[in-house]
Amino acid sequence: MRQLLESTLARATRYLEDLQTRRVFPSAEAVADLTELGGALPEPPEPSEQVLERLDRFGSPATTATAGPRYFGFVTGGALPATLAANWMAGAWDQMSGLKVASPVAVALEQATIPWLLDVLGLGSRTAVGFVTGATMANFTGIAAARHAVLARHGWHVGKQGLFGAPEMRVVVGDEVHVSLLKALSLLGLGRDRVERVPVDAQGRMRVESMPRLDADTLVCIQAGNVNSGAFDPAQEICAAAREAGAWVHVDGAFGLWALASPQRAHLARGVADADSWAADAHKWLNVPYDSGLVFCRHPEHLMSAMSAQDAAYLITSADRDPTDLVPEMSRRARGIEIWAAMRSLGRSGLAELIERNCRQAARFAEGLEAAGYEILNEVELNQVMVSFGDGDITDAVTAGVQEDGTCWCGGTVWQGRSAMRISVSSWATTDADVERSLECIIRVADGLVGYP
Ligand SMILES: *Cc1c(COP(=O)(O)O)cnc(C)c1O
Repeated sequence: MRQLLESTLARATRYLEDLQTRRVFPSAEAVADLTELGGALPEPPEPSEQVLERLDRFGSPATTATAGPRYFGFVTGGALPATLAANWMAGAWDQMSGLKVASPVAVALEQATIPWLLDVLGLGSRTAVGFVTGATMANFTGIAAARHAVLARHGWHVGKQGLFGAPEMRVVVGDEVHVSLLKALSLLGLGRDRVERVPVDAQGRMRVESMPRLDADTLVCIQAGNVNSGAFDPAQEICAAAREAGAWVHVDGAFGLWALASPQRAHLARGVADADSWAADAHKWLNVPYDSGLVFCRHPEHLMSAMSAQDAAYLITSADRDPTDLVPEMSRRARGIEIWAAMRSLGRSGLAELIERNCRQAARFAEGLEAAGYEILNEVELNQVMVSFGDGDITDAVTAGVQEDGTCWCGGTVWQGRSAMRISVSSWATTDADVERSLECIIRVADGLVGYP
């Protein structure tokens, strides 16, 4: 075992060091060679060292360098050093963390982390926190609590009675709702297509004046951090209206919720803390390894009623409460470990600095691209930048050219009918020098295609 782990440590270390110099997206040859990982199942056992050798030889070159400093696609984030190391420990421990009786340490680490999270995000000390796989499941879990609460007011226990014949429940979303939230609605029997959509402004924010009338049978799903523009729905106004009407507000804050941890950016999320439930990713801006998300719920009793396999509401205040009572999973890995390590290694100031630095770097991207003559399509207030290089074909060609160049990786998107390159800055590893190097690459590729200067 020791020999295997030591050689794997050497492989992993070499891999991480190579990220500084290698192409961000793997070469076509590396991707083609992935067939070497397939083929027929070997009949005899294979020595572990040989298994790892094959994994490293064919797997490592075909990875996307999301752990490196110049990957700006999909708001991924990297993995802080302490979180990767803690992840290795968690693998060695192999704890089943759904039940206290199965792993005191896994549960204790989550319990230790909960007040830290609630404190830095300002979500109220009595808010329940569940550790899930990502924002999709966090949305699912938060909305399940909402569904339970709304129907329980009619004396309908959705967990026991299901949805057939249940009282109707309304769902209001913004026109810029993330697909993962719609997926959560579909999984919960609330339907992707029966939502009431609210028109949005030029930044993708819900227009409050166009909101439908809310009532106590309504779930309003708002966004903290639009996946393209980074914009926030006007939470303060929406939460106030919802509270008056008795409606439930759920926030998809996959990455944007972390703005609350930065004194300089928290104003963007004004009012978000007044909601009833929230979804956030840890594997994005908190920079822990995949997979890791967080669901927060102001009403622990509804979350527990929706999630507990035992329907044991009496557990709410009980020391017997187990992590599984708050999330869909029963057995799961000790997901809180990396979050604990991230929070300790960053501290309150380090977390604020990480958010702030990435926002500053996004602003630098916008400034540099604008100075080069290109059009920024969004107000760059958070970590997201959308840039157009001309018409759709040119913009798509520049995005493809940058991806091909390999210095950095930015994705393409369509924003209010226009093609754009999207730059998401969310990694702890990105230095200001990486931003300059990436800017130089993007402008070089764009100038070559557009015919500047
Ligand atoms: C990434 C993202 C999601 C989905 O998160 P997963 O971790 O991929 O499940 C949902 N909403 C927004 C706004 C996102 O950026």
